[in-house]
Amino acid sequence: MTILQLLLFAATLASVFARGRDYRTIRTVMIHDQAHLQPEDLSSATRTMASVFRRSGIDFSVISGSPDGPDAQIVDFRACIAASPRHSGSVPIRLRIIASAPPGFSPATLGFALPCARYGANATVFADRVMRVSCDLSVPFPTALGYALAHELGHLLLQSDEHTPTGIMRAVWSRSDWRTLATFGMEFDANQSEVLRHIW
Ligand SMILES: [Zn+2]
Repeated sequence: MTILQLLLFAATLASVFARGRDYRTIRTVMIHDQAHLQPEDLSSATRTMASVFRRSGIDFSVISGSPDGPDAQIVDFRACIAASPRHSGSVPIRLRIIASAPPGFSPATLGFALPCARYGANATVFADRVMRVSCDLSVPFPTALGYALAHELGHLLLQSDEHTPTGIMRAVWSRSDWRTLATFGMEFDANQSEVLRHIW
């Protein structure tokens, strides 16, 4: 191999690695921990959530928000309409974790997202439901929480309450799904990853 070929080879390698690091930083995600979780559990769950999006080429910064702040207490159940504006990139996406599911949610529900909310918390995850999954299926709590957060954040970023038959946006995760997820991880399907990269 000549010096020129070596230089070209090195340039190609540098280009490949540069593309590999070309994550799209979308914005800031603010987490309001109203369940008062162990800090290490929350930190691990946050890393798990972020890793799901990084596999789709999406990156974001995560900061903690006050659990008692007014923005974390309000929930805007506004329905989406065709002309609903997307979240402004200058406003953090607010995820909150509450200790227990309010009455009325089905036992299998781990949380909910409000893709078209214009104020307040954009998505909520129920710590007690996640803990039950963790205990019943022997999935580490931070892992289960991280995937539950990623699923709800997926609704927000895709601005859709729809589910898919495969991937992290499936509506129901079976026992086998959870075991697969705990071992190998779970991600957005190819179409959703493409949409996420183009939207954000
Ligand atoms: Zn969902």
